[in-house]
Amino acid sequence: MSEKKEKILSILGVGLIGGSLAKAAKSAGLFQKVVGYGRCLESLQTALDLGVIDQVACDVKAAVESADIVVLATPVGAIEPLLKQAAGYFKSNAVITDVGSTKGSVIEAVRLALGEIPENFVPGHPIAGTENSGVAFADAKLFKGRRVILTPLKNTDADAVLRVRQMWEGVGSIVSEMAVNHHDEVLAATSHMPHMLAYLMVDRLSKMDEQHEVFKYAASGFRDFTRIASSDPVMWRDICLANGDALLSALEQYSSELTQLRDAIETKDDKYLMALFGRSKAVRDQFS
Ligand code: NAP
Repeated sequence: MSEKKEKILSILGVGLIGGSLAKAAKSAGLFQKVVGYGRCLESLQTALDLGVIDQVACDVKAAVESADIVVLATPVGAIEPLLKQAAGYFKSNAVITDVGSTKGSVIEAVRLALGEIPENFVPGHPIAGTENSGVAFADAKLFKGRRVILTPLKNTDADAVLRVRQMWEGVGSIVSEMAVNHHDEVLAATSHMPHMLAYLMVDRLSKMDEQHEVFKYAASGFRDFTRIASSDPVMWRDICLANGDALLSALEQYSSELTQLRDAIETKDDKYLMALFGRSKAVRDQFS
């Protein structure tokens, strides 16, 4: 069991998620110091000015060498090159974790960067966020009551898992554990697919001749359905490429259901339509 208070939290990528974790950990008093590292000094200065972090690390080595917990919070495609720069500089008892939306690809990135998947690496994913990016949107309450999924591997050290669990529970999250593949399949269906559909819907409408009319008269349904199409394109490009297999199988399933819906409308199959809408409404009402 880990009983000592962690001293230094280091966040690599102080954006919406990394910044929110930093802010929440600071307001809960979980660490003595929160250090931030990123590509852009301007956004790190903003993080400092907003009190999200206590200190800026000028390079990756400085960011990790005295950290007790290192959180990788960049887009998933940036993790491998970042870890390559950090290799060899971690403290011996440090725990490394991440917040990436895909888990199989992040684990592979860790293996490629460090030559193995260390026992002190705990893959993680907070199921919380918004369509906004950047540290200016960091919110100390973002993770309160929200789920965090950890996907430890067979060789992951139990104490490392416990320390990451305690950090998330300390900011008010509900932590569960899941197998890596299961995580990637579930998230492809519940998060990655809805983002693809929202991006497609907005793109489709923007190509219509009468697009100005369409957006002028778009109502709350359009806003609700497409809010997430304002999400960061780099993040979603990385997620798509990283979770391609699970996303492809979700897309295939969806394509066949779209064809069934199309056929039902063409053949005026009112029973099919009522059954589909009724089932969905019941499930959505229960979820709400
Ligand atoms: P974000 O607001 O854009 O933050 C990303 C941060 O990473 C920025 O501070 C950026 O800093 C930094 N960064 C980007 N590339 C970098 C690089 N090569 N080296 C160092 N720093 C780099 O994105 P986010 O929404 O927080 O997402 C971060 C991670 O959380 C992603 O892996 C995403 O999959 C995951 N996630 C997101 C959500 C969500 O809803 N947004 C939810 C759960 C998990 P600069 O641009 O200033 O360098």
